[in-house]
Amino acid sequence: MSRTYDVAIVGAGIIGLAHAYAAARRGKSVVVIERDKRANGASIRNFGFITVTGQERGESWALARATRDIWADIAPQAGIALEQTGLILTLRRPEAVAVAEAFMQTEMGEGCEVLTAAAFRDRHGQIAARDALGALVSSHELRVESRLALPKLAAWLASAHGVTFLTEAAVASVAPPRIETSRGPIQAERAIICPGEDFVTLLADRIAAYRPQKCRLSMLRLASPGFRLPAPVMSDLSLARYAGYAALPEAEALRRRLAVEQAPHLDNGVHLIIVQSADGSLVVGDSHHYGDLPDPFAPAEAEACILDEFSRATGLHPPPVIERWVGTYPVADGRRFFIDAPSDDVRLVIVTSGTGASTGFGIAERTITDLFGPGKGASK
Ligand SMILES: Cc1cc2nc3c(=O)[nH]c(=O)nc-3n(C[C@H](O)[C@H](O)[C@H](O)COP(=O)(O)OP(=O)(O)OC[C@H]3O[C@@H](n4cnc5c(N)ncnc54)[C@H](O)[C@@H]3O)c2cc1C
Repeated sequence: MSRTYDVAIVGAGIIGLAHAYAAARRGKSVVVIERDKRANGASIRNFGFITVTGQERGESWALARATRDIWADIAPQAGIALEQTGLILTLRRPEAVAVAEAFMQTEMGEGCEVLTAAAFRDRHGQIAARDALGALVSSHELRVESRLALPKLAAWLASAHGVTFLTEAAVASVAPPRIETSRGPIQAERAIICPGEDFVTLLADRIAAYRPQKCRLSMLRLASPGFRLPAPVMSDLSLARYAGYAALPEAEALRRRLAVEQAPHLDNGVHLIIVQSADGSLVVGDSHHYGDLPDPFAPAEAEACILDEFSRATGLHPPPVIERWVGTYPVADGRRFFIDAPSDDVRLVIVTSGTGASTGFGIAERTITDLFGPGKGASK
């Protein structure tokens, strides 16, 4: 226990790694302590879809833009492939077109465009369903293959930024300068706890004050459709779910219509994201079921709804399912994330909106500035 780190970070999910990066690029010595051999939770089960368009207006949208810029900067340095860019949100109802047009009138419409049905067919005929009325197209998004990207990010933080990783070590208590782990004590001046959905091991009472719950999502990987998608794809259902659209007054009429036409989808919290991997396969989801402890048993109805929306939105017959998994993330009374300060030298950071890949680097900049003061600009 001879070395004393400037900061110890608990958790090697994307939020822990984002904080490790923000601290290391300010020249701080960093140790990341992870209970598993490597990240195996939400951070590798997600779409790897780094979204800006659709994030809640204001703070989340700004954090997503900052996070997207950091991903774009570090991905090539870390050898992480940017598998896709942009977004095509297909529009199949006049009410959906109205939401997209209202969205374009806000500051969030910058870098986006609403295509007419003819323009959509002309540019992206392979994914234009027969009833498509157009599409909202965004240039902001990035997509990484999270199950590959997270290990690469960790390896790069170690090799290029000198971050130390202590894995298969559970942290039992945090009281800087002493951090107790199942593999012995660590010394660090400060600590940042990024425990994801573990609400009980550390600071349980403080976490409980946010009244957290968990959300379980069903995810699928489909075989390659035989062509490259021009961009990640979303659909009408997403306009009623993603806060950047759903909070617009125009979304109310769409919600009413969806409640009549797609009640099982809404009951299962289903909306559509399709992203494509390097081998052509598609990661498709998702559903949302909430509870204190969502069981791991994904209802077949949710999967049927996801595949049904895939067909409706793209006009394509879904390719065969080649993988299924569930993932969970924390939620807390509509809060997007929180940074809690149990003491001057400890911060607790939990993203409670299923947007950690899209907002994590931006959040980490805030936490590190709060703990250490303003830092240098992003390293190139
Ligand atoms: C199916 C699914 C799809 C999603 N899609 C997207 C998407 O496309 N885009 C997006 O932006 N977001 C998406 N999200 C949300 C995003 O994945 C999460 O917000 C993000 O991964 C949270 O990261 P985290 O580091 O907080 O948590 P986690 O990934 O859960 O990591 C927390 C880590 O902390 C470790 N840990 C906890 N306690 C201790 C302890 N005491 N000692 C040692 N280690 C500890 C755990 O072992 C774990 O590895 C999705 C989530 C899911 C589940």
